Amino acid sequence: AAKEGGKAAWVRFEPRMRQEVVNHARLGSELHNAIIRNELFLLYQPVFDIATGRLHGAEALVRWKHPARGFVSPGDFIPVAERSGLIVPLGAWVLREACRQLAAWKAEYGPGAIKAINVNVAVRQLRESGFVDEVAAVLAEYGLLPGNLVIEITESSVADGRQVRETLNALHEMGVRLALDDFGTGQSSLSLLRAFPVDVLKLDKSFVDGIADGEDRGRLAVAAAVAQLAEYLGLSAVAEGIESEAQLDRLRDMGYRLGQGFFMAKPLPANEAGALMAADPVSVIN
Ligand code: C2E
Ligand code: MG
Ligand code: MG
Ligand code: MG
Repeated sequence: AAKEGGKAAWVRFEPRMRQEVVNHARLGSELHNAIIRNELFLLYQPVFDIATGRLHGAEALVRWKHPARGFVSPGDFIPVAERSGLIVPLGAWVLREACRQLAAWKAEYGPGAIKAINVNVAVRQLRESGFVDEVAAVLAEYGLLPGNLVIEITESSVADGRQVRETLNALHEMGVRLALDDFGTGQSSLSLLRAFPVDVLKLDKSFVDGIADGEDRGRLAVAAAVAQLAEYLGLSAVAEGIESEAQLDRLRDMGYRLGQGFFMAKPLPANEAGALMAADPVSVIN
């Protein structure tokens, strides 16, 4: 009976699995067109100085408005783009568009209105030999300082190999800031911190969630330890996925200076993020 059950389960799953393969193939070719047809756009999630309530920066997050499917989540199409290699042109578009927007905000609200733009970069992009030159060219095109750009990478990117590490070293040498995204979820966080020049640790949302649950001492301990680690190493620590005032207060007490999350602001269209740059800073949080 157990065997039968197993078999039945397999039969039930197979069509769905095949469907998924088909969808991925189709999604891949549609994504190729999406870049050409201007179906991609960016939202910007504000990053706040959580002590003062002032806007610090913004993370660019890509969105795809598919003509028939509606909004496709990056959680669905980024992995497809990574597997097909389309992440390379897609990521190049994201980088350029985010830098263009940062320059536009600085022109409209003043050079100090926003300090940094965060751009997520996939390991496939880092493996391209021209990536460092691409970044330098985009910064020059929009008259931005390298320190205005924070490149978010995951721990697996850093562990990828020598070429990627050399690329990251070159970016850091140039003055671009490197952030380890989803920090705390990877396998080898601590040794990686010595292997390449990281500037920012972004505590993963799952640990922030642990603070809401209150009783989860394990996740609470990680959140506190990451803040300490950043402090000792002279890095900046950002808490992401803050959804409540209780979490915000707790993270501030732990030593986090920067934070982002729905409690303060969701990812916003460029004009709404820009409006925050003109707004009374303290009103956003307090
Ligand atoms: P991420 O880089 O860790 O981005 C944070 C994600 O958490 C975003 O999801 C954001 O909308 C969400 N988030 C922020 N605050 C909260 C909160 O308080 N509550 C909840 N529930 N969620 C929150 P999003 O925009 O769906 O992006 C998902 C992931 O897709 C990103 O995770 C990133 O890994 C990837 N991604 C997005 N845009 C790009 C891109 O341009 N290039 C690459 N390579 N990856 C991207
Ligand atoms: Mg990110
Ligand atoms: Mg993140
Ligand atoms: Mg994440």
